[in-house]
Amino acid sequence: MTWLDPDTVQLRQPKASHWEAPFLYLLFGRERALLIDTGATSDEGQFPLRAAIDRLIAEWLRRNPVVFVRPYPLVVAHSHAHGDHIAGDPLLRDRPGTTVVGTSPAEVIGFFGFRSWPEETVAFDLGRRVIDVIGGPGHEPSAVVFFDRRTGILFTGDTVLPARLYVRDLPQFRATIERLIRFRDDPPAPVREVRGAHIEMSSTPGEDYPAGTVDQPDEAPLPLRPGVLDRVLSALDDLRGEPGERIVRKRFILVLDR
Ligand SMILES: [Zn+2]
Repeated sequence: MTWLDPDTVQLRQPKASHWEAPFLYLLFGRERALLIDTGATSDEGQFPLRAAIDRLIAEWLRRNPVVFVRPYPLVVAHSHAHGDHIAGDPLLRDRPGTTVVGTSPAEVIGFFGFRSWPEETVAFDLGRRVIDVIGGPGHEPSAVVFFDRRTGILFTGDTVLPARLYVRDLPQFRATIERLIRFRDDPPAPVREVRGAHIEMSSTPGEDYPAGTVDQPDEAPLPLRPGVLDRVLSALDDLRGEPGERIVRKRFILVLDR
């Protein structure tokens, strides 16, 4: 795991436990923490998610003794509802002070209080740390993108990442990318980088590791510059609409998955 700053942790499920090796993020605020995604397994022996979260929260609370609410609340939400991002939910459901957000579109809309889904952006306050929740369907119907005003990171799940971008609903996916571009260009705080949930690209531009690869010795870096959103939109323009079609770019491969 990596502390991206004193209040932000990036975790990765080890490749050895699941080839998808998703990235998870834990963001601390004065009133509560937000965990984005729970990984690809519900087996604590394979990937000790519960132990890791307990240890990280205890460590943060030691450094931040002024936080008064006990138990310190944890909200567990998801980039989207595919199995490799929600499988660890049962490990956290009975954790004191913890709310696990449901994974259907209706549950996501209800929890964050979207009135006009998916066009609206909703502010979610962790306590002196506001997270913007942006509707993001297209890869999956309940997908959202989280923007952290503190770090300037856009957490894009499986929508924009150095990997294969599987487009399941083309009109919705396109609308989501356009929405993210509008957000980036008129943001509540500068958008500094884009972090998704997997790495499937190698450091050689346009070359990916096939699905199922466990050993990726030469991975591309995870963070992408905000300009990548324009390149995803232009790749969408190049699609002819054939199922399985791939548009290869340096840092990602768009796949029409239907
Ligand atoms: Zn997915």
